[in-house]
Amino acid sequence: MRNLLHFNNLILLLLVLSLKLHAHEGGHFSEGAFLKVWHLKNGQNVSGNFLYSTKSEIVLEQIDGNLVKIPTAILAKNDLTLAQFKIKKYAEIHQQYTQRNSINNQVPFFEMIDIRSFGYFLIFILILLLLSKRLKNKAYFLPLQRVALYSFCLGLFILACKSSSDVTPAGTTGTNTGGTTTTPSTSIGKTSTSFIDSAFAPYKSASLATKWDDTYFYVSSNGIPAHNMMVGITSWQQQVPISQPYTGTNHWSIPLAPVYAATPVSTKTNFMKGAVALAVNGIPIFNALNNRGEDSFLIGELDQWGGHCGKGDDYHYHAAPLHLSATSGLKAIAFALDGFAVYGAKEPDGSTMKTLDESHGHVGSNNVYHYHGTNDYPYVIGSMKGKVTLDPSTSAPENQIIPQAFSNPLRPALTPLNGASITAFSAPSASSYLLTYKIGTKTGSVQYSWTNANLYTFVFTDVDGKQTNATYQRK
Ligand SMILES: [Zn+2]
Ligand SMILES: [Zn+2]
Repeated sequence: MRNLLHFNNLILLLLVLSLKLHAHEGGHFSEGAFLKVWHLKNGQNVSGNFLYSTKSEIVLEQIDGNLVKIPTAILAKNDLTLAQFKIKKYAEIHQQYTQRNSINNQVPFFEMIDIRSFGYFLIFILILLLLSKRLKNKAYFLPLQRVALYSFCLGLFILACKSSSDVTPAGTTGTNTGGTTTTPSTSIGKTSTSFIDSAFAPYKSASLATKWDDTYFYVSSNGIPAHNMMVGITSWQQQVPISQPYTGTNHWSIPLAPVYAATPVSTKTNFMKGAVALAVNGIPIFNALNNRGEDSFLIGELDQWGGHCGKGDDYHYHAAPLHLSATSGLKAIAFALDGFAVYGAKEPDGSTMKTLDESHGHVGSNNVYHYHGTNDYPYVIGSMKGKVTLDPSTSAPENQIIPQAFSNPLRPALTPLNGASITAFSAPSASSYLLTYKIGTKTGSVQYSWTNANLYTFVFTDVDGKQTNATYQRK
């Protein structure tokens, strides 16, 4: 009788599982069905109903069955409270399951059952079914035989459900607008290297070079643009532009054969670390949102060219560098790290820009997708139309695309200088810069110079006239 009781427990388990699987399958919401709107710190919204959670993320199901992971860290205050409540509740329910099964694990229950385990389980049931025929005690084994048969059918049913409702892979999220995303069915050929090279050509110099192999188009650069920098910043972290070693194997890599992503990964909840594109003057373009989820442009972090310096004193854009069109004409002003070109305010044939989709682009007359830079959020890329590889050591929203070039910090990162606005930036010599800022009516400055051996000397003059010196050796 002990065996039979144990068996009944298994049936109960299977029933619970089948309910669970139904609950997380996609496509429950028809058009117009009610979806909760979640507010993010950055003012953006994500629609979707709570499905399950981990300690630091909630997973929402959207109208088309998309699963979207939202780290609680990026939620606005009220929704954070709701999310924390849901997480607590979910953990409580989850605990009841795990206690019953003596498993202490934070993974959502149904995620612990994989197809292979089910296969083994079905084989076990089948063997039991065959064996039970040979056993003689009918009063005991006939019900067991029936139960085994039912389990086998139920198991098959669950297996079918499970394989047709794959969960979004970890680290990727669906589009967050709730709209439909159409993936062009045309296959994309390899991008012509002379096409990409011609876009970089006007900016080539001793510090910007290109090369390529079968897979990538590579760009080496020192990360310093030909235009002026820093002027216009009103929210300054005290970082200044310093030449970066985007050279050797630390060059920028643009895929030569872009592939459309099944679900474009949104820049609203991803890529808050690292670049998403490379401008044709060798300056990386980062997400329009900074690593706190705020629109860098709107909060005054950017200069008149849409750029500023990161913690590694690395100059980069967060807004679209549309000013490059003055030099580039109708050519691409950037290439996204998925391999698609980014154009300026006009189509490559000079006509008015056509309507943009959620990714911030469209399929061009050449049947290949491209993005456009604009003056409004998301400025360059709404979601990555092409497949990208996510750095496995990072997680959303502070994840990043690989391969990518990295900055090399020369000195420890500084803190924001409250009330400072940068009024001037100049190069007194070929190997020095002078940055001038104002706090109220008082002026401060940072003057820095470097030697051929990469020894950097800084002179900081604060608004009260006090001077501080520092030297740093680039390794
Ligand atoms: Zn930045
Ligand atoms: Zn276009």
